[in-house]
Amino acid sequence: MSTPETTMLANKHATTPVPLMELRGVKQHYPVARHLPIGPRKVVKAMDGVDLSIAPGETLGVIGESGCGKSTLARVMAGLEKPTQGQVLFRGTDINDLRGDARREMRRNIQLIFQDPYSSLNPRMTVEQLVGEPFEIHPEIAPKAGRRAKIRELLELVGLNPDHAERYPHNFSGGQQQRIGIARGIALNPKLLICDEPVSALDVSVRAQVVNLLDDLQQELGLSYLFIAHDLQIVRHISDRVATMYLGRIVELGSYADVYDRTAQPYTRALMSAAPELRRHDGTDRERIILQGDPPSPIDPPAGCRFHTRCPMAQAVCATTEPELIRVGETHVARCHFATDTPTN
Ligand code: ADP
Ligand code: MG
Repeated sequence: MSTPETTMLANKHATTPVPLMELRGVKQHYPVARHLPIGPRKVVKAMDGVDLSIAPGETLGVIGESGCGKSTLARVMAGLEKPTQGQVLFRGTDINDLRGDARREMRRNIQLIFQDPYSSLNPRMTVEQLVGEPFEIHPEIAPKAGRRAKIRELLELVGLNPDHAERYPHNFSGGQQQRIGIARGIALNPKLLICDEPVSALDVSVRAQVVNLLDDLQQELGLSYLFIAHDLQIVRHISDRVATMYLGRIVELGSYADVYDRTAQPYTRALMSAAPELRRHDGTDRERIILQGDPPSPIDPPAGCRFHTRCPMAQAVCATTEPELIRVGETHVARCHFATDTPTN
């Protein structure tokens, strides 16, 4: 009944038996257009059996190359898409079973922050209208009478000048636009904020400021985050635990210290070694592992271990037998026949 992840969670957060969010065996397969009029219909296995959980107040970071299924995970977790298989549990209830008010309440509690702030903001709306828009659907959070004051308060909370509430998105810099997106995201007092590469589109110089804002808001509002990013330094900074995804599967999951300092799975190791600025905490250097090419197609993922075609450690068994997520430490699991919890990279 309990997956390795849920058991781990119970250990770490002994006082919170029910995770805020939990995925059990989630698959999301998208049909692809047939090249031939006959033959089996192919599917893109964007998520192919994902188990994970997020505790109240926790940040789970997600890393992995483009195409590994991270945004699909974000959409499925936000309830924007119903998965092909598996359960998406918010406080123990499958969000895809919810109807009516219960569904509305779940939607309020799970909000999404997008990668490109500008294209996610209606250019014809003022900041006041944009930040106030969620209250049109949930007037109980900010009744009309006090709404203006609430919007000003939100703008201040995300570091924007409330006197600029009449301006339009194009009047703001990229970082400020993302602050508007964040104000919208937290307007309804959600419990979980799903951040899909929230700073990737921003100038490097403002990324840290926006991440620090998210960090501060988490302290202040007790939010949980699913935080997807390419920038491994940022993920390390903000995450309590980190998951690596490869071709629709989680291949490593553990505390940030587990995953960064005791990397147990060769794919995670390769990602880490591609970021030379990522020193281990003990100051020692990592072995350089160059990843060849792109991930294979998630339509026909390789047999055996999905990473074996690019893995520098691959042995015969890797081409035939898919490894389970095995426990390599108290809070640490990895999908590799040769996984260890010693700092070997
Ligand atoms: P990531 O965010 O890690 O880059 P995505 O979740 O966007 O990965 O995509 C995972 C895989 O699923 C990719 O191969 C992508 O092309 C495919 N995919 C994503 N969404 C759809 C969709 N709606 N229809 C078909 N294929 C999709
Ligand atoms: Mg993506």
